[in-house]
Amino acid sequence: MLHKIPIPTPFPVGDINVYLLKGRDCLTLVDTGPLTRDALEALEHGLGAAGVRVEDLDQIVLTHYHCDHVGLVEHLVEKSGAKVLAHPYTEPLIARDPDVEAARGEFYLQLYRGLGLNEEQKETALKQILYFLDYVGTAHVDTALQEGDRLPGHEEWEVLYTPGHALDHISLFDRQGRRMLLGDHVIKHISSNALLEPPLRRGEERPRMLMLYREALRNVQALDWEIGYAGHGEEVTGHKELITKRLRDMERRAERVLETVRAGKSVGMDITLTLFPRHFEQLPLIISETIGHLDWLVHDGKLKIEDDGGLWRYEVVEECLK
Ligand SMILES: [Zn+2]
Repeated sequence: MLHKIPIPTPFPVGDINVYLLKGRDCLTLVDTGPLTRDALEALEHGLGAAGVRVEDLDQIVLTHYHCDHVGLVEHLVEKSGAKVLAHPYTEPLIARDPDVEAARGEFYLQLYRGLGLNEEQKETALKQILYFLDYVGTAHVDTALQEGDRLPGHEEWEVLYTPGHALDHISLFDRQGRRMLLGDHVIKHISSNALLEPPLRRGEERPRMLMLYREALRNVQALDWEIGYAGHGEEVTGHKELITKRLRDMERRAERVLETVRAGKSVGMDITLTLFPRHFEQLPLIISETIGHLDWLVHDGKLKIEDDGGLWRYEVVEECLK
């Protein structure tokens, strides 16, 4: 049995859906809602409607480390003793390791320098990233879930590694029942974003999130399922068409990014503000969108980067016409 429980969030995205899986001997909550009193009340109420108390929970699965999905985990573990199950990449994040957080800060600063953010823009962007940490608790991953694993206590659900929206993102697939638990991998009413993330280890190359996302979208598109339970909004049906549309929208945006560079914008931040002139309050998001597409164009050989004393200048690679 699967119960959907909508939970309010203080974020522009609106409600998040968490899911209660009732197995024969196992009660599992998929995602938690943010760390707010309203969210906890809604969760307790939703669990109650399914005849369950927080104390009864055996397991908490986290689809990815974003505050609306993991915020209440510490509180719920304290109250229930539930085990936490997530991708191994979730552990260093949710443990709130100070070294990891310092490395993240450094990473963003260096990146913002390359993209040409001024001091005020850097400060605004970092503040917007840190703001979300007010809505998460600390926890540890007890059981790592990787591609192909079965969800303990609910063996019909198979784990899929679906990076892109987040590097630690997993989805759950019930092949027999033709159902998916999607987290934020696919959302019906909005396109999910491939958010920038630092590399797993300091000094490594950062992951190309949009490209990972496209690949993971295609993987999920190829699977046979009828209904997808998403982290936000209504259930996803007709996923093959929906994912085709999402992929096409990205291609169109890449085309616009290329045009913007061709029109003379060479610095990441200028390109970002040309594409998204009215979204300054969501700076990390619009930077992620822009750089995701820039990465992709560079990878495809349509753009190249010149390092101008730590500032990256994007240039169109003109094809040789013979
Ligand atoms: Zn998310």
